[in-house]
Amino acid sequence: MKIKLPTKSLAFRLAVLYGSLFLVATGLVFAVVHLILAHKLLQNLDQDLKEDVSEITTIYLRKGLPALKSLASAELAEEGPNNFFFRILDSEGREVFSVGNSVFKTLPWPDRASESPKFFVFDLTDSLGRVRAVVWRLGKHRMEMAVPLRFNQRILAQIHRAFLWAGAVALLISFPMGFLFAKRSLRQILEIERVARGIVDARDFSRRVPLSGRGDEPDRLAETFNSMLEKLDLYFRELLQIFDNLAHDFKNLLSHLRLLAERALEKRDPEEREELIVRILYESDRFLHLLNVLLDLSEAETGLLKLRRERFPVKDILEEVDQVFRELAVSQGLNFEIRYPDEDLYLFADRARLLQALLNLVDNAFKYTPSGGRIQVEAKRKGEDLVIKVQDSGRGISPEELSRIFDRFYRGRGPERGRGLGLSLARAYVEAHGGEISVESEPGRGSVFYIVLPQTLPVETTHPTKEIVED
Ligand code: ADP
Repeated sequence: MKIKLPTKSLAFRLAVLYGSLFLVATGLVFAVVHLILAHKLLQNLDQDLKEDVSEITTIYLRKGLPALKSLASAELAEEGPNNFFFRILDSEGREVFSVGNSVFKTLPWPDRASESPKFFVFDLTDSLGRVRAVVWRLGKHRMEMAVPLRFNQRILAQIHRAFLWAGAVALLISFPMGFLFAKRSLRQILEIERVARGIVDARDFSRRVPLSGRGDEPDRLAETFNSMLEKLDLYFRELLQIFDNLAHDFKNLLSHLRLLAERALEKRDPEEREELIVRILYESDRFLHLLNVLLDLSEAETGLLKLRRERFPVKDILEEVDQVFRELAVSQGLNFEIRYPDEDLYLFADRARLLQALLNLVDNAFKYTPSGGRIQVEAKRKGEDLVIKVQDSGRGISPEELSRIFDRFYRGRGPERGRGLGLSLARAYVEAHGGEISVESEPGRGSVFYIVLPQTLPVETTHPTKEIVED
């Protein structure tokens, strides 16, 4: 049977990573412990050998060879022939005396010996294994002594075995523990995935990921995810509302047009009929205008809006605003004032669209300022920029609304509701010119909207006067 590993699971990969790191770390610890222990054991053995060397030297000097031989024989009887080797050679290299397994004699003993003992490690090919040997000179004689390292190696082997068992058990425990731990840490991420899947399947944006309250990274991710869902939820509800409103507007407009056309068909009198056809044309134009606004907004937001720039005096568009609103101001009892710039300022811009942006601002000022109020439009140069200010003493805008009024389709809660497109269109047009639009407002006292456009031209300019340039 082929076992399929869950390599796509982050918890599994983390557990494997924990396990591997654990293996490497324990391997390193084992290696260091092994080196220290092996060194310590050899040191202890050398200490014993040094004591033996000094005892042998004392006996040799004080009591002579016979006493030394009997001491060596006694040691051999205690240790056994495989565990102790001692040999005395004369100055010619001939053996005078030896105890212990004769295989020790085959070791590559050095030819020369000095008075201070020299230590060696030799490998014996047979079962005796590694050997610690010491050689030194005493008077006319040369002493050779050797003991197997078997005992040290046995201790090390036992410790290795203990290490291996401990490592294997720890690894066996650490892998599932790591897996569980990783799974626990990832629980919230899995929860986010579950909620996201639920949203995709059920299209239900009201779902939320429960917070653990630990405030750690997954918890913060869950929090961000929830607030993103909240925003999306709001956005989609707004979008649905917008589609609803638009569909409603379109339906009303078309029904109205249809009704007018029906009535025109019924009319016998050509004058009455013409009047109705003119109204149909007027309503159709309004409808087309709305569609153009929507198209312009989409184009501006995707950066595809084409501007038809021309050079014209700033004064021109202010005069047009005056013409459009002068009568309305009188009929609504509003104090309407336009302040022209002191100097002859020119713009190189899309005249129609800039005028539209300005008309939208002034139109709002008229819509949201009660009779007896004051509306002022002012244009002046500020450094290289042109600033157009539209100020009213109307109802003002609450701080919560201020951040949203430039959003597409945002309409305030007041009774005088429009389509919620005026400001977004004004902003789109101004920004397409590289300008900025902003607002300051105080509820109950009025609002000031600013259009700031870069590159105001002085009277003499190198830009073309008539030619129309499309961006
Ligand atoms: P609308 O067609 O609703 O006027 P706008 O995009 O022009 O759409 O304006 C968005 C909202 O901003 C308005 O519904 C209104 O609540 C608020 N608003 C805009 N201009 C003013 C103003 N001069 N005074 C008070 N409120 C304003």
